[in-house]
Amino acid sequence: MENFSFAQLLYLVATALFIMGIKKLSKVKTARSGNALAAVGMGLAIVITLVAPGLGIKLNWPMVAMGCLGGGLLGLIMAKRVEMTGMPELVALLNGFGGLASTFVALSEFWGRYLGQTDLTATAASSDEGLLLGGAVWAVAIVLSVLVGTVTFTGSLMAMGKLSGRLSGNPILLPGRHLIVAIVLFGGLYMGYLAGFSEVGDSAMYMILGLTACAAIFGVVSVLPIGGADMPVVVSLLNSYSGIAAAMAGFVIGNSLLIVAGALVGASGMILTVIMCKAMNRSLGNVLVGGFGGDAVAVGGADAADYEGVKSAGPEEAAMILEAATSVIFVPGYGMAVAQAQHVVKELGEELEARGCKVSYAIHPVAGRMPGHMNVLLAESDVPYEQLFELERINGEFKTTDVTVIVGANDVVNPEAIENPASPIAGMPILNTHESGTVLMIKRSLSPGYAGIKNPLFERDNCYMCFGDGKAFIQEMLIELKEG
Ligand code: NDP
Repeated sequence: MENFSFAQLLYLVATALFIMGIKKLSKVKTARSGNALAAVGMGLAIVITLVAPGLGIKLNWPMVAMGCLGGGLLGLIMAKRVEMTGMPELVALLNGFGGLASTFVALSEFWGRYLGQTDLTATAASSDEGLLLGGAVWAVAIVLSVLVGTVTFTGSLMAMGKLSGRLSGNPILLPGRHLIVAIVLFGGLYMGYLAGFSEVGDSAMYMILGLTACAAIFGVVSVLPIGGADMPVVVSLLNSYSGIAAAMAGFVIGNSLLIVAGALVGASGMILTVIMCKAMNRSLGNVLVGGFGGDAVAVGGADAADYEGVKSAGPEEAAMILEAATSVIFVPGYGMAVAQAQHVVKELGEELEARGCKVSYAIHPVAGRMPGHMNVLLAESDVPYEQLFELERINGEFKTTDVTVIVGANDVVNPEAIENPASPIAGMPILNTHESGTVLMIKRSLSPGYAGIKNPLFERDNCYMCFGDGKAFIQEMLIELKEG
């Protein structure tokens, strides 16, 4: 009993570490330490669960060692190998594994402890193995854990396929998909009901397997119709699902920490999803119904022929413009991630500062392909946090800024969002770069961004298109600036 209480106390410490970690993640400056705190909390949680005898877990140590070593090694290799541009796919995959783990926990409990018993729910209620809640709640928790966990797994695999380009980014609309969704959802829930409340023995096992299959199909058919542009929102939502599945698995095995950690992930994932939808001026329902966005160029069909009077500047001319500037704002976007230009951007910023110029960085909440994408890249290149500004804080500054340097951003600076109510991105908050004295727009061509639409900023009098790869162009500009 003593051990049990001590273990619970340490669980509380782990919970506090999770909460403090999440709190710190909300600020760029403290995000790194927040991540570390949450990781320590997770490490502590694993150790307590393994060593506290009061928790009543019977362990097969070789299996535990294999799991820890195998999983740890795989995680290390993936984290080392992943490119910054591939991070959203990795997050999607890891969410999926979280969901799958919850499914396995629920299935193994179902099979291992209760299969073959005459009355499933009554057995759970009278179990003396420390289930938090027995009876009907336990049965519901098993069903929801399998359902939500499996939907998260297959849905995340689809999201990963779309983000990595293995599946088309265009909405894939299967014939009769609404009917399929209805059949697998209601069929799955009915089988879940039978497994938890009515059937026993083999029959219950077939029902739970049927539920798993239906949930797997549901995950696939509900993500396929959603366009690639909305995948990060889907990943965030699936992240929330993986938390819900984990919390349900916590009820199944009576582990309070798993319930708390799952609830934290579920709630924070949902909040993030809502923030992203707001930043794109879309409702969650609109995202989930699908059909918006796809393979970049295909959707809006905007190309060079749509533009008139575009002016361009080479590295030398752009360097001359910067030489005369007293204030410069950098606006990074997805293209900066593709070009891996964050280090040269920082070098250019330092060079300008050394010349007495005021330098800031403007971060749009959905620039790039995942929330915080730009913050992570700029932090990686050690741009001082004090120079990073969120949209609301910097938007008033463009009017009084000499030069804005846009590095591979497009949709997030498209004035159509505020000037054309019929535009697909109408209402999306943008960075008002068009208000600055001069805009240097660094990208490779006149191709559209993820929304696939024309950007009239390219035609503005104060805008110079700087055609080239983000990193290469800035490197050349830097050389010109230093030599000039
Ligand atoms: P965009 O996708 O609008 O534009 C990126 C631009 O980068 C392209 O126009 C491309 O032009 C350019 N580019 C690509 N490679 C390079 C390179 N090597 N060097 C220089 N430029 C390059 O990106 P934004 O960041 O402006 O906007 C993000 C978009 O993603 C928004 O539509 C947003 O809604 C969407 N989105 C973002 C989410 C998030 O969480 N961040 C979530 C969901 C959606 P070119 O090919 O001519 O070089």
